[in-house]
Amino acid sequence: MNFPGELAHAAGALPMILQESPAPITFGHGMLMPSYCGYTRSIVDQAMIGEFKFLDAIMFGDHCVQLLGAADAVRMQLPDTRVIFFQLISSMCDPWTLGRSRESFLILKQELEEFIDRPIEDAALHASVRIFNRNRQLLRKIYDLRTAGKIAMTATQIQHVVKSSMVMDKGDHTALLEQLVSQLERHPEVPGPGIRLHLSGHFCQAPKPEILDMIEECGAIVVGDDLYHGFRYISTDVDEGGDSIDALAKWYLARNTGVPCPTRVQNNVDWDAYLLKAMEVEKADGMIVLMAKFCEPHMYYYPEVKEAFERHGVPHLLIETEHEAVALESLKTRVETFLEIVKRRLEVTA
Ligand code: SF4
Repeated sequence: MNFPGELAHAAGALPMILQESPAPITFGHGMLMPSYCGYTRSIVDQAMIGEFKFLDAIMFGDHCVQLLGAADAVRMQLPDTRVIFFQLISSMCDPWTLGRSRESFLILKQELEEFIDRPIEDAALHASVRIFNRNRQLLRKIYDLRTAGKIAMTATQIQHVVKSSMVMDKGDHTALLEQLVSQLERHPEVPGPGIRLHLSGHFCQAPKPEILDMIEECGAIVVGDDLYHGFRYISTDVDEGGDSIDALAKWYLARNTGVPCPTRVQNNVDWDAYLLKAMEVEKADGMIVLMAKFCEPHMYYYPEVKEAFERHGVPHLLIETEHEAVALESLKTRVETFLEIVKRRLEVTA
C-alpha cells in the first residue's frame, strides 16, 4: 500500500498494483493456509497459475505478516522474476522515523537502479512526481464532487476509476481523467435521495462490486470512503520541489497523518478520530466497515473504532468480506436493517 510508484515510473517502468483476482483459488491452497487473507491467497494463486509471467519484477511491502508469507511463496514460484521486499519503518512518530524512512526510499531507489542498470535521474523523478500528483488531484476532485452531491457516480464506478489508476500508465490515465473531470463539471448530476454513508476499511484489495452495488440498491448513497481503492490511495501529494527522496519520505509519513492506517504505529493520530471527523465533513449519517476476513491489522484495530463510534452515538455496521463467497441475500438483510436504524435516528433528531 505504500509503494512509491513515482520511483518506478521515473525508472521508465510501468508500475502497477497487483490486484486480487475474482477467480477461485486453486493451486494457491497448497502454498498458504486458508487463514491467510483473500488478497494474499489470490496473489500467490495467480503467481502459481502463471498470471504474473508478464512482470519483470514484483515489489512487496512489509505492511503485515501475511504479506511476508505471500512474498516468500511468490519468490519460490517465480524464480526468474526479481522479487524485491521493501522494508519501511512502521513506527511513525519517533525522532528517527523521518531519517529511517528516507533511508528506505533511498535503498529502494538503488535497488531499482541496479535492476534497470541505469541511474534514476532527478529530473525524471520530479516529472513523475508531478504526473502522480496531478492524477491524485483529479481523483480528489471527483471525490469532492461526490461529497458535494454534484455527481451521481456509484461507489463501483468510482472504484473503477481509482483501480484503473493503479494499473494503467499514469500519464494515459491522467489524460483520461482530465476529460472525465471536465465532463463531470460541465454536466453536474444530482444523485437520488438516500442515506449518506462513509465506507471504511478494505486494505490491499478492492471490495467486490456486487457488495457496493447492493449497499446502494438498499437505499444508501456513498459520500466518502477511506478504502485503499479509494481515498486512502489518493489522499496525499508529494512535495514537487527540493530533493525527491526527502519528499517521498515526508509523503509516506504525511499519508498516515492524513488517513491513519492500522498497519502503522503512530501515537499522535487515531483512525477512529479521523473517521468521525471525515464523516462530519462529508455529512455522512452512518458508516459501513468492510473488513476482509483474516486481515489482522484491521481485526486488531476495529474494537477501537467500534468503541469510539458507540461512545459518540454514530451508527456503523461491520461487514466481513471473503474472497470465496458472498452471501449477498443475508448481507442485504443486515444492510437494510442498518439503514432503517439510521433513518429512524435521523427522524428522531430532525
Ligand atoms: S493488510 Fe490485511 S488485506 Fe492486506 S495483506 Fe495484510 S492481512 Fe491481507
